[in-house]
Formats: sequence, C-alpha cells, structure tokens
Amino acid sequence: MPIRLFDSLSRDYRELRPAQPDGVYRFYNCGPTVYAAAHIGNFRTFVVNDLLRRLLELEFGPDNVRHVRNLTDVDDKTIRRAREEGRPLATVTQEWTAKFHADCAALNFLRPHVEPTATGHIPEQIDMIAALERRGHAYRTEDGSVYFKVASFPGYGALSRVKERELRTGSALSGKPQTHDADEKEDGSDFALWKGYKADDGDTFWPSPWGRGRPGWHIECSAMSKKHLGDTIDLHTGGVDLLFPHHENEIAQSQCCNGTTFAHHWYHSEHLLVDGKKMSKSLGNLYTLDQLREMGHSPAALRYALLAGHPRKQLNFTLDSLHAADKALAQLRAFRAALTSSGTTDPFAPALAALQDDLNTPHALGLLFTTLHAGPFGVSSAAFDRLLFALGLDLTEPVKTATPTPPEVTVLGEQRWAAKTAKNWAEADRLRGALAALGWSMLDRKDGYSLEPAKK
Ligand code: AMP
Ligand code: ZN
Repeated sequence: MPIRLFDSLSRDYRELRPAQPDGVYRFYNCGPTVYAAAHIGNFRTFVVNDLLRRLLELEFGPDNVRHVRNLTDVDDKTIRRAREEGRPLATVTQEWTAKFHADCAALNFLRPHVEPTATGHIPEQIDMIAALERRGHAYRTEDGSVYFKVASFPGYGALSRVKERELRTGSALSGKPQTHDADEKEDGSDFALWKGYKADDGDTFWPSPWGRGRPGWHIECSAMSKKHLGDTIDLHTGGVDLLFPHHENEIAQSQCCNGTTFAHHWYHSEHLLVDGKKMSKSLGNLYTLDQLREMGHSPAALRYALLAGHPRKQLNFTLDSLHAADKALAQLRAFRAALTSSGTTDPFAPALAALQDDLNTPHALGLLFTTLHAGPFGVSSAAFDRLLFALGLDLTEPVKTATPTPPEVTVLGEQRWAAKTAKNWAEADRLRGALAALGWSMLDRKDGYSLEPAKK
C-alpha cells in the first residue's frame, strides 16, 4: 500500500512516489534554530518528520531515501544570544547543536543523511541571490541589502493563498516572526535575500558582491536543498507556522532561480499547545526534554505522547499524557516479551496501513492495542518489530539508576561549571573537551548541570 499524505499546496491527499528515475526519494525538513534548547513543541514537528522518514524507508528501502535537515546557525536570534554571552557565534551554535543532537538521540530519531548549516553554505546562497538578481527577481537597497521582488513571481501565494491585497499592505506579515525589519524595500511583501551589515551584527558578516553582510533566513533552505537534493525535491515539511512566509518564499526563490518545480509535495504538521496556547519561547510556556526528565519522565514516554495526536491536528500537552504513555509502553514491553520466534501471523498490517494513510497515528495506536488485547499467541515478532520501527518506539526499559559518576569526572564538571559562571569560555570549552575524552558529556541548564555518559 502506498503512503498517502495531505499536500498543503494542492490541498489534496496524494501518494508519495520518487519523481526522479534513480528511484531515490528526496526529503527535506526545516531544522532548528540553534540558540537555545529545542522545546517539546519543536520536537512534535521533528517526531512527525522522523515517523515519515521511517515510513519512507519501509516503503522504498533505506538506500532509496535521502533525508536533509538544516541547522539555522546564523540569524537575529543566534547573533543576539552570542552577543549577550560575549562568546563567538560558532561556539554558541555548536553547543546548542550538540544539545539538539543529544535530545534527538534520546527521542530515537534516525539521523538525517545530511545536516547542512547556513554558515557552511554562504557561497551557495550568494550564488543563488546573484542569479535571482541577474534574472530581474531581486534588487539592491542603499544599505547594502538585497530584496526579492515578490511582484516578479506570478506564482507567489499559491501555497498559503495569501490575498494579493494583504501582501501589498504587508498585513499578511503582521504577527509573523520576521528576521528583518528593514524598511527600504520597494513593496511591503518583498523580503530580504541578503542583509547589509549593521553594527548589531558584530563580527558576524561575510563579503559579497553587495558588500559585507549576511544571508536572509529564507534563502538558506533554497540553497541547501538545491545543493544536497537537486533543483526539485519530493517532499518538503515543517511546522504549520513555516507555511507563510518561509515556505512561500522558498518556493519563490527556488523556482525563479532554477526555473522548475521546487517541491512535489508539502506537508505541515500542527502545533503543540499548552493550556490552549502555542508552546513557544516567546510565550515562556514551554517544556524541554531535560525538564521532563528531571520530573522523572522518559524520552520514550514523550515520543509516545507526541505520536498519540493526529499530526495535522493541534495537540494539547499535559503531564497526564506522559503517565498514560508509560502505561502503554509497559503493555507493549510485556507483549513483546511474550512473543516467540515461531509466531507467523501479522495482525499489525492494518495499524501500519493507518500510518501510511496520512499518518493517522491515533488510529494506528488504537488498532495496535486492539491487537494486543487479543493476545500474543502465534503472532510474528518480526511483524510487531516492523510496526514498532515505524513508530520509532524503543522498548528497552528506561534506566532507573544512573551510571555512577567517577570522581575525576565530577571534578572536571565542577571546574567547567565554575569556568562557565566566570564567563571563562575558552577554559569551559577546554574542560568540555576533557570530559568528552573520558566519555562524558555535560548538560547545562540555567541554574545547574548534569553529567551523563556520552551516547555511543
Ligand atoms: P525553530 O527552531 O523555531 O526554527 O523551529 C523548529 C521547528 O519547530 C519548525 O518546523 C517549527 O514549525 C516547529 N515548531 C515551533 N513551535 C512549535 C509548536 N509549538 N508545536 C509544534 N511545532 C513547533
Ligand atoms: Zn526552511
């Protein structure tokens, strides 16, 4: 059975099939901005991406899926954070990237095949902007910035259906997180491709044909997907907040530069809410994975709770959902333990089919538990494991007792914390390296830290 997924552009359900003759399915996710710990709302989106990656592997074979997820490591937020801490931008973003990777591993995500960074692709972004300028889709302003001319692309608005009038007045953009606020653009809907240097940027700038500056946010995804997946990708995903303007702008940039369809399929997952409001850094109503762990919850329980809601419906997060997830995981573990290698029946096909039908996770989990209640007799363990692989549920028991910390590790941890609070960043980084050499990593929080054996 083919995977069928809602497509935000055509507003219809469409089958997933690789478009290129090489049979490789090209999959691009917008990744995190690495300036703070990702919250569990961000992880809802990344769990959905991971579910998709796993279903694609089951459908097309692991060698026929190419998965790219970028890291936004330069923008207003990352620059502001580094300036506030008096540290180099790269040091700050690398630290948060490491934290993101540790959280992704804990949540049992398959790693993307390529994880390109914005700062690692400056020439590619400059080339793309220059091509847009040559083709009459971009213009320079006095301050050394370059803007995309929305009026030059008749297809603009097809994804988000923003009305032309709203675009002209800029009202469609109100309340949207814009990474620039320059007012030299010719039209309210035009957006920055390149941002001329400002004093606030400190030592974060690159030379370009337009003078020194840095890329706008949207161009990074167009440039990195082109480099790592080619001009046309099969599936592009992100949270629903990225639909406009980010993805609309990506389409405009890529199609005007490459002269061909940018993405065959668009998929947007809905938000995680707390008390009916979007979980977000700016509202301060967020949980991180570390906070939940400190409360005694396992990453597997969070993954289960995030999967329990339909990805295209908003999900209200509660701590109770984690308790329910723990119970469900315990039942799954008991069932798995009761399976024998001689079982041959596969009662899980309908649950897998539910996942393949627009990622209907609540239905799939419902079917899975109906099967569980029928008992393990004669059931194929391989069939069970296949469904659990698709869901990415790791049934190993959460570690109850932490590995004892060797004294030299404790000392290094204390020294590093002291260096960090004294803002001696070079020494803090050196000590982090010394810990890593002993096979330990240090997880920083606002008011303390924990030491953990590094993931193998
Ligand atoms: P950011 O690090 O802000 O660039 O966001 C990373 C991803 O998380 C994007 O795909 C966002 O759409 C997504 N996202 C942000 N907030 C939420 C939320 N409350 N629920 C689900 N996804 C979110
Ligand atoms: Zn993007």
